[in-house]
Amino acid sequence: MTAATESPSEVVARLRATFRTGRTRSLDWRTGQLTRLRDLLTESGDELADALHADLGKSRGESYRSEIDFTVREIDHTLERLAGWLEPEPAPVPAVLAGASAQTVQDPLGVVLVIAPWNYPVQLLLAPVAGALAAGNTVVAKPSELAPATSAAVARLVPRYLDTDAVAVVEGAVPETTALLAERFDHIFYTGNGTVGRIVMAAAAKHLTPVTLELGGKSPAFVDRGTDLRTVASRLVSGKFLNAGQTCVAPDYVLTDRETAPALTKALAEAVEERFGTDPSTSAEYGRIVNERHFDRLVRLLDSGRTVTGGVHDRGTKYIAPTVLADVSPNAPVMAEEIFGPVLPVLTVDGLDAAIGFINDRDKPLALYAFTTDPEVRERLLTETSSGGVGMGLPLAHLTVSDLPFGGVGESGMGNYHGRYSLETFSHRKAVLDTPLG
Ligand code: NAD
Repeated sequence: MTAATESPSEVVARLRATFRTGRTRSLDWRTGQLTRLRDLLTESGDELADALHADLGKSRGESYRSEIDFTVREIDHTLERLAGWLEPEPAPVPAVLAGASAQTVQDPLGVVLVIAPWNYPVQLLLAPVAGALAAGNTVVAKPSELAPATSAAVARLVPRYLDTDAVAVVEGAVPETTALLAERFDHIFYTGNGTVGRIVMAAAAKHLTPVTLELGGKSPAFVDRGTDLRTVASRLVSGKFLNAGQTCVAPDYVLTDRETAPALTKALAEAVEERFGTDPSTSAEYGRIVNERHFDRLVRLLDSGRTVTGGVHDRGTKYIAPTVLADVSPNAPVMAEEIFGPVLPVLTVDGLDAAIGFINDRDKPLALYAFTTDPEVRERLLTETSSGGVGMGLPLAHLTVSDLPFGGVGESGMGNYHGRYSLETFSHRKAVLDTPLG
């Protein structure tokens, strides 16, 4: 039987039986599976890159940088350190227990479900799978149906490389995911939007299953006066328009003061041209919108302000030019939802207090970006706002640091992963007290 012909309960029962044999606990098995997953990515990288191009128009370079090599680096980081991370941590005991010893051990959980979205369909499926395997679990991996070529490629490749009784890929859309969610898992790791995040959490609650929810939101970028706007614009454009803006940690909107806004929007337009040329539709480095539904949603947001650059779109090829909007009102449609596309609104505020107020009046974002050379501004933004992570001076890059936890807070999610944090997410910290007899 394979995951393709079994029912969800048969898949879970098979993986649970494997877990109960105990073989997934050994360090050898874990490092062996991680090494095979690494082989999958390096040997079949081009196959995955072709699928990513078919689904999202991603260039080969971008697919390797942001999906394939990214996941390989994450695996390498773990392989180098896993044995050390798994060492039991001794704890001091109180005087009344003199003679006893205490320690914390990382215990695998059992059968884990990983549900991934379409925007980085390799990285956001396989990096959590790597974490779950490193922690000694068996895994059901559910790729997004909205990236069908990548979903099919992963379903084809995983059984060729990994232990098929420990890792199952279950493809499908809402009905298949709903059926999976009726099963009892030991952890559910979901990446996607908050509406479905609530469905996942409600399903998990029936079995008292812990969840990690990697969600999104409107990540703000604050640009202080007196900064080098050419550098700021170039970095904002790189972060915003990667994958045509379909990145959970993309800067969603920019806050700056009235005096800085004109020069900043001009610099943003120049940075777009520098990166993608005068006609970005011909740039191999620029992606496409995932489907017509998202294309139509994004086109409706284009009228939310004065177009500084972009605005051009073509439904046939699902192309929307990198677009910068000025004079945007906080009540404009583009500010009512996470944009998740290549539209960058620039809003003006009266200084730092107003910017902090603006951010705190809204849901806690997945990331906050700040461009400032003033240590006091930096400190106030760090301590007076709440977000999943912070990027000072550079968007997106914090998630490439494997030693940093990646995750949201409030509406942008709960829990985190990457590197050692993945091991912790997919393990139970078991307290062990050893008291000698006699
Ligand atoms: P999506 O539509 O691919 O959905 C994600 C997953 O949920 C898919 O596997 C899908 O099959 C499943 N799903 C959809 N509807 C379901 C339902 N009713 N019941 C059960 N499962 C269901 O992706 P999306 O949600 O459009 O992804 C975009 C969102 O994800 C954005 O909000 C983005 O910010 C967020 N995101 C967050 C991260 C992060 O790491 N925090 C990364 C990427 C995307």
